[in-house]
Amino acid sequence: MDFPLLDDLKATKEVIWYNENYTNFDEVKDILPISYEDVLEAENRLIRFAPYIKRVFPEVIDGMIESPITRINKMKERIEKEYGKKVYGKLLLKRDDLLPIAGSIKARGGIYEVLKHAETLAIESGLLRLEDDYSILAEDKFKELFSSYTVQVGSTGNLGLSIGIISARIGFKVIVHMSADAKKWKKDMLRSKGVIVVEYESDYSKAVEEGRALSDEDPKSYFIDDENSKDLFTGYAVGGMRVKKQLDDMGIIVNKQHPLFVYLPCGVGGGPGGVTYGLKLMYGDNVHCFFAEPTHSPAMLLGLASGLHEKISVKDIGLDNKTHADGLAVGRPSSFVGKIMDKILTGGFTIDDYRLYDFLKALCEEEEIFLEPSALAGFLGPVLTGEKFQNENITHMCWATGGSLVPEEVRQEMIGR
Ligand SMILES: *Cc1c(COP(=O)(O)O)cnc(C)c1O
Repeated sequence: MDFPLLDDLKATKEVIWYNENYTNFDEVKDILPISYEDVLEAENRLIRFAPYIKRVFPEVIDGMIESPITRINKMKERIEKEYGKKVYGKLLLKRDDLLPIAGSIKARGGIYEVLKHAETLAIESGLLRLEDDYSILAEDKFKELFSSYTVQVGSTGNLGLSIGIISARIGFKVIVHMSADAKKWKKDMLRSKGVIVVEYESDYSKAVEEGRALSDEDPKSYFIDDENSKDLFTGYAVGGMRVKKQLDDMGIIVNKQHPLFVYLPCGVGGGPGGVTYGLKLMYGDNVHCFFAEPTHSPAMLLGLASGLHEKISVKDIGLDNKTHADGLAVGRPSSFVGKIMDKILTGGFTIDDYRLYDFLKALCEEEEIFLEPSALAGFLGPVLTGEKFQNENITHMCWATGGSLVPEEVRQEMIGR
């Protein structure tokens, strides 16, 4: 194996990588293992569930789990000042840190897959029909049904939070297998909601493997497989698809002359991959997506640039997969997602951990927005792509992937770093 950036990756240098396999979306969309219809079906399922969500999480006013997009001009100026470089065009922030229920991008895929599983069981049992008002799912007879089933997942933290919270509320028994990176407050929060948390001293891949094996032993247990799940991916893709209407409503034009550049923090790839696919469905080649990963955990970049996908881990090139970006501490990418990204992702880059804290502090100071470290990885994107694209018509959008559930004392500690 050899490719131009390999030595830099090994040396944990920050790199930007442009994907040579990128192909016009029209030429590839029909050969991908997912389609527009799949994403539409997911959106319709989420609409069916809205009355239920509204009933059990009254803070979700319309029952739709969605987040706003805002302009962050002061942050743009701050970045220009600190880097001594111009950021061409507009800078937007997609606020998935504000997603209700789970406070991170995992509220998209994770909640969607659990709802889909519950719907399947409820319909099979004869208690639910597609035409029903799904708010009935909060009734005791459904809770009784679901309580005989288990949901399990392996996670670095946020997927566990999302799956744990929604599964417990629906009435499933739920077991979350947490890797060593998972933060204590995330485990505490889950336990307080009746979730069983199993802790591992190893990294994410191991937690997933163990969880999968334990779940497979029990016929009434369902495993949410972050390394392979099409349902997770589809739930995330809905988020990408909905961006179009949000930008239209803001009067932001995206076309060939006015491209959209999106920067997505990446762990195993499901979240950013799904969002990328949804964006491509809406904007085709007028949107360019970039994945951001820590210099110590560039799993997806390594998988794509080497062409080896899930067959290679960052450990194979001597990296330790240790990062303060707990949500991105993944050494081996999803094979399902990597193969879809191979021709539709424009590129990726790596970022040093210390910069995450610099951006964290800057965003608090300039915009009064707090994000968890993982969620800031995208901010280096506009600086890096600016070396190649100097176009005032670009709209840059950083995807803020989490932060609103972080407890106050943990926030203060992170800001102080
Ligand atoms: C999970 C997560 C990501 C990345 O999602 P993957 O599906 O693992 O690639 C990014 N940011 C945060 C905060 C996350 O929790």
